[in-house]
Amino acid sequence: MFPFLPANDCLIDSHCHLDAAEFDGVRDDVVAEAIRQGIGQILVPAVNQATFAETLAMRERYGCWLAFGLHPIYLAQHLDEHLADLEHKLATDRPVAVGDIGLDFYLPALDPVRQEYLLVEQLKLARKYGLPVILHVRRSQDRLLKYLRQVPVVGGIAHAFNGSEQQAAAFLARGFKLGFGGAMTFRGSQRIRRLAATLPLSALVLETDAPDMRPEWAQAVPNRPANLLRFAEFLAELRTTTPEAIRTATHHNTLQALGLG
Ligand SMILES: [Zn+2]
Repeated sequence: MFPFLPANDCLIDSHCHLDAAEFDGVRDDVVAEAIRQGIGQILVPAVNQATFAETLAMRERYGCWLAFGLHPIYLAQHLDEHLADLEHKLATDRPVAVGDIGLDFYLPALDPVRQEYLLVEQLKLARKYGLPVILHVRRSQDRLLKYLRQVPVVGGIAHAFNGSEQQAAAFLARGFKLGFGGAMTFRGSQRIRRLAATLPLSALVLETDAPDMRPEWAQAVPNRPANLLRFAEFLAELRTTTPEAIRTATHHNTLQALGLG
């Protein structure tokens, strides 16, 4: 269903949980609306072993890109044998990346030792299969960078980036792109806005993280991939350039981050 061709310069939603229950019953409409707004491809990352099949269904129905991973927020659901299930998926179902994986040091209930164990094991899998990674990084930039130095991977995307300029530079140096979306639409997000405005354009990819990370102008309803067009327009304003320039650059950057360009 997605009209994506590698030579196009369509908008790409580099992070969208299209399989989420919020879209049950309206998913076809959500996808059709996104396509009408010029979104030509969506990357759908799994968050736990139970969602591997659901993300796969998104590719079968809509032609989405997939990532398989064990997200730190769902830590309590991850069993050690899910790592073997993950490896089986990487070997047989050709995802574009390993994700969502990462570290969340914001939520106190998530045991950091267990998080770090699962992160390292998944980085090793990404390395083994030559795949980029989609990173969830919350209050954990420096620790994640430490593990990326220990287990280098080909690159990927630091999703919903919210670090410092120095941390941004460190991710870029390791072959990563930085994801920007709903957070930059908030007046209070001064640091994120400053990064979005001043980082080299080659560093940025666009994402909605739908149905989460609702933009300032639509707090009452689930976020949707169609909002990516407004995010592109918003980023163009921040950088005093055109939405077309943002579209072309972020398209290219997303392909590069995923090793598809
Ligand atoms: Zn995610």
